[in-house]
Amino acid sequence: MITIAIDGYSSCGKSTMAKNLAKELGYIYIDTGAMYRSVTYYAMLNGMIDSDGNIHSERLEQAMGDIDISFRLNPETGRPDTYLNGVCVEDKIRTLEVSRHVSKIAALGFVREAMVAIQREMGKAKGVILDGRDIGTVVFPDAELKIFVKADDRIRAQRRYDELRANGEQCDFDDILRNVRERDYIDTHRDIAPLIQASDAVVLDNSNMSIAEQQEWLLKLTKEAVSASE
Ligand code: C5P
Repeated sequence: MITIAIDGYSSCGKSTMAKNLAKELGYIYIDTGAMYRSVTYYAMLNGMIDSDGNIHSERLEQAMGDIDISFRLNPETGRPDTYLNGVCVEDKIRTLEVSRHVSKIAALGFVREAMVAIQREMGKAKGVILDGRDIGTVVFPDAELKIFVKADDRIRAQRRYDELRANGEQCDFDDILRNVRERDYIDTHRDIAPLIQASDAVVLDNSNMSIAEQQEWLLKLTKEAVSASE
């Protein structure tokens, strides 16, 4: 069993790839974006983000000890749901409003420190797949397989648009495109653990690939990495 790190830009379908692969291999899937989204949702609920999007970071830093994030397998979907302080927040954290604030929250050093510590603890046994922005560079630099995913930003925005619409959220394509570009910018330019490709990562541009095609590609690569580690 190995550790698999899937990093890349926003809305590239990393979590779909990771979830499907985890199911296929019987590995544990850790959605690190869901963790930053949960902290953001907590900050929103507790009035720590004002109407201009400014974060009351001192208040959030003090509250970090009160934020408990966990994953529980949903027997209906066969996939893990995200829980914040014991409450399932899987739908609440996927909204465009959370997406608007999450990259600023994720740029805060104390937030990253807390999330990385949890991720290392959750993933310390092999047989895990983590997706995020800094998994192969910071969280698990020794991961046996690292994938770096990219895709054209308009295609990514369209995928996010379709997903939000399917969840019943009213949204505008241009708003989503702006959000995808803004998150890319913040994620690649922040001081701490910016999104960069690890030197030993394999790049996947899935702009013109179907989910089935990328799954096949990923499975082949995984099998090779597993045999190389034996
Ligand atoms: O993957 P997802 O789009 O759900 O992640 C939400 C946001 O969380 C990203 O835009 C990024 O700002 C942040 N993130 C991060 N490091 C990770 C995972 C996510 O900074 N490992």
